[in-house]
Order: sequence, then C-alpha cells, then structure tokens
Amino acid sequence: MDNHTPERTCVVCREKKDKKDLFRIAKISESNYSFDEKQKMQTRSIYVCKTHECIQRISKNKKYNLRIEDLLAMVNLLKKQSKDYLNILKAMKNSDHLAFGINMVMEDLDHIHFLIIAEDISEKNDKKLIAKAKELNISYVHYGNKFQLGEIFKKDEVNVIAVKNKKIARGLID
Ligand SMILES: [Zn+2]
Repeated sequence: MDNHTPERTCVVCREKKDKKDLFRIAKISESNYSFDEKQKMQTRSIYVCKTHECIQRISKNKKYNLRIEDLLAMVNLLKKQSKDYLNILKAMKNSDHLAFGINMVMEDLDHIHFLIIAEDISEKNDKKLIAKAKELNISYVHYGNKFQLGEIFKKDEVNVIAVKNKKIARGLID
C-alpha cells in the first residue's frame, strides 16, 4: 500500500481522504472561495469530497459562499469521472464477477478487486468496508445511492457491490 498518498480532510463531513478523492477550493480572501480545478493556486485552501452529498452540503454553507459556476464545474466533473458505473454493472449483473451486500462482500474479500460503495451507506458500514479495503489494498469508490445500486439486482437497497474479476476491476478503476 502506498503510504505517501497525501491526505486531506473534507471540510463538510470531516473525513480524511486521498487528495485525489477531494476537490480543492482556494481561499481567495476572507469570504471569497473559488474552485481550484487544477490544484495550482498558491493560496490557502479547503477540500471537499468528490461526492454529490458533500458538494450539495457545501453549496448551502454561507461561510464559503461558492459561486454557482464553481458548483456546476464540480458537479460536471463528478459526472464525467464517475463513469457510467451503473450501466457497466448492469451489463455484468448475471456474471459470477460481482458480489453485492455487506455480508457477501465481507465473506469474499480475498477475491475482490474493486468495491463500489453507496454514497448513502451508514457510517458504521462505510468505516468497516474501508478499513478492510485499505488493509487488503482493494480500490474502492463511493458511487450512487443504495437504491440505485439495488436496482441493478432488483433489490430495494444494496450498500456495496464488489468486482471479483481483475480485468473488469481494472477497466472500472482506470
Ligand atoms: Zn465530505
């Protein structure tokens, strides 16, 4: 595992994450913040998760008073980066390459190469999965909600989907 990945804390949910999983927002002046897409501005800055939830929450925070252009830029990047996981997963749902649900995933961790975790998973389950993923060096992403992930398998809710095939996992990660 790479221990040199720089970590920062999301200003909304206070979770510590790899810098690549966060958007950088530069502090231009006391009440003026601006999305720093290229992460190059030489100013103090804050970070926010690349999730719809945290972006939505920061958009309502008067302290940062982000411009609508900046918010839109972040949401658009999210859309682009998030790939079309749902459609890719739908196409594979009948194969043996996927497992879903916390229990199945935890049982099968040795054979798993990638995790898609619902953005609205409970904090407890999120921590449990991420701790295991880090321990076993499994890549993961937070994507969609429990309902959307559930739809793929015709279930009401699914907290997590695991990819057991290395090649498919690569395709989803890159
Ligand atoms: Zn966050």
